[in-house]
Amino acid sequence: MNIILIGPPGAGKGTQAHILEEKYGMIQLSTGDMLRASIKAQQPLGLQAKSLMDAGKLVSDDIMIGLIKERIAQPDCGKGFILDGFPRTVPQAEALDNMLAEQGKKLNAVIELKVDEAALIERVSGRYTCAKCGAGYHDKFKPTKVAGTCDVCGNHEFTRRPDDNAETMKTRLKAFNDQTAPILPHYKAKGLLKSVDGMTGMETVTRAIEAALKP
Ligand code: AMP
Repeated sequence: MNIILIGPPGAGKGTQAHILEEKYGMIQLSTGDMLRASIKAQQPLGLQAKSLMDAGKLVSDDIMIGLIKERIAQPDCGKGFILDGFPRTVPQAEALDNMLAEQGKKLNAVIELKVDEAALIERVSGRYTCAKCGAGYHDKFKPTKVAGTCDVCGNHEFTRRPDDNAETMKTRLKAFNDQTAPILPHYKAKGLLKSVDGMTGMETVTRAIEAALKP
C-alpha cells in the first residue's frame, strides 16, 4: 500500500508514519529527514537547503521531486511507502502522479491529519530526539522515563531541530496554508482523500488511520 500523510508541522505525520512502518513494514519516506541527513553529511544538497529550512521556507520543487523520484524507484519501496512531507506543493503533487504512472505504481490513500494551529506550536516547540537512535520525545507530552536518558538506547545526548521554535513555526504554518493545503482538492477529486482528527491521543489517531485505509 502506498499512502501520503499530509498535515501542518507538528500534526504527527512522522510519529504515525513510524508506527505504520513498524506495524506493516511499509517504508517511511520523510523528505525533511532526507534533507537533515544531507545537511549532517555536509552534502551539496543539504548545504543548499539548510538556510531555507532554518527559515521555515520550502526547498525548490525541482530538488524535492528529483529526490523522491530516485527514492521511490528503489526496490525496498516495492513493499509500500508512506510519504511524510511530500508532496508539499501542487507542482510536487502533479510530478508525483507522473512518476508513479511511469513506475507502474499507484496511491491507495491520502490521509490528512487535522490539528488546531494553537496546539501545533506547543507540540513542535517541546519536541526533541535522541542523538544516537533517533527516538522522539516531548518535554510535556512524552518525556524520557529517566531524565536525560533515552528510554530506547540509554544515550544521554539529545537534539532539537533548529526550525522547531515559535518564530519559525509562523513561516512553516504559512507555507503549509499557502502552498500545501491547495493540494487537498487535487486528491479529493481523485477520491483518495481521508481526513483524520489529529487532536486525539497517538493510539487513537493510529486506529483512525487504519480505519481510513480499509477498503
Ligand atoms: P519537515 O521535516 O517535513 O517538517 O521538513 C523540514 C523542512 O524541510 C521544511 O520546512 C522545508 O524547508 C524542507 N522540506 C521538506 N520536505 C519538503 C518538500 N516536499 N518541499 C519543499 N521543502 C521541503
